[in-house]
Amino acid sequence: MKRKKTPDRSSRIIGRGCSLIIGSPFFVGRWLDSIWSSGAKEQKGLKFSLSALNWVIMGKSNLLGSDLSDMERLMVDLGEKRYKGRQLFKWLYRGGVDSFAQMTDLSVPLRAKLADRFVFEGFSPEATLLAADGCEKYLFRLEDGLYIESVLIPEGEKSTLCLSSQVGCPLGCHFCATGLNGFGRDLTTGEILGQLMYVRRLRGADAVHNVVFMGMGEPLLNFDNMVRAVRIISSELGLSLSARRITVSTVGIVPKIYALADSGLKVNLAVSLHAAEEAVRHRLMPVAGRYPLEDLAPAVRYFAEKRKKRITFEYILFKGINDSRSAALSLARFIRGIPCKINILAYNPVAGLPYERPRDDEVDEFARYLYPRAPAVTVRKSRGLDIGAACGQLAGKRQCF
Ligand code: SF4
Repeated sequence: MKRKKTPDRSSRIIGRGCSLIIGSPFFVGRWLDSIWSSGAKEQKGLKFSLSALNWVIMGKSNLLGSDLSDMERLMVDLGEKRYKGRQLFKWLYRGGVDSFAQMTDLSVPLRAKLADRFVFEGFSPEATLLAADGCEKYLFRLEDGLYIESVLIPEGEKSTLCLSSQVGCPLGCHFCATGLNGFGRDLTTGEILGQLMYVRRLRGADAVHNVVFMGMGEPLLNFDNMVRAVRIISSELGLSLSARRITVSTVGIVPKIYALADSGLKVNLAVSLHAAEEAVRHRLMPVAGRYPLEDLAPAVRYFAEKRKKRITFEYILFKGINDSRSAALSLARFIRGIPCKINILAYNPVAGLPYERPRDDEVDEFARYLYPRAPAVTVRKSRGLDIGAACGQLAGKRQCF
């Protein structure tokens, strides 16, 4: 296995290790269920099926978040040929047009019919913060007044966009600003895509090279909408960003790790581990009680073998909690036999929380001790510290649930 000799200090932090577990299905989608479902919707006498129906705007349904099969069905419902759904899908996600009228390979009457009944609306941020190191954080206000955040992290010529998958997070990791503020709801597929489409609109279609689900929320708890979004993002007719450039980060929702491995998606998996000693992990992340390390390890191994991918373990260092030599040895034992790399990053302090950031030399010392015992170790540099790039810090000031 290839070993990386020197910890690379040029790497970046993406929000925060983020993404945890759910404990109870009670949280998931309880609110959304009342708004949209996978059933048929009636609108202006037209009955169509959209499994990700978005907000109705001025009496018109928003198509953002609809996938190819939705659009094919929609065309059939409109009395048109199914293949026109492909044309519509391509125009909406790749075409960069502002209106149905510009979809020149659709007939004029069809364009008028679409314009009469539908919109394709993204959103723009209520606030944008620019960090000294070039990171940009966007605060989006959703239709129902809730807030989410996304962070664009430039590195050289390339940029990574960190997406949110939920409003808040139900997992309540004790060190996390998002977890601190509670849980609002899952994002729709359209709301996940809207974050990316905004940045592409702002900076151009090639501006985002990598996408990571490491913003607010645990993406595996919003599994269906996240997977639909990834399929649209990676579709050649859609946003055309290879799934290999998409990373889904989880705190370890074991059943969904298996589901993601079996989904056929070629995405990368990052696991926010932060401790390989059960008691310490439990102290940091309540989800550890539900999905202990002994269940997490085989799930991760299954993903690596099934998808033939190396797993990334995120390990946030908290001063005096998980930064000892014995913690490093536990980590080395846990990853034994798993094709993986370890990203170490120092904790980004959050006001009101008791956790401390270790000094840089302490971080280096931990990495140096771990390195000979792990396939690859990278020390990531914190980014966007001056704008509170850790997820949830900005949105949390605007809302609590
Ligand atoms: S509480 Fe925070 S760190 Fe934990 S999964 Fe949720 S967003 Fe991620």
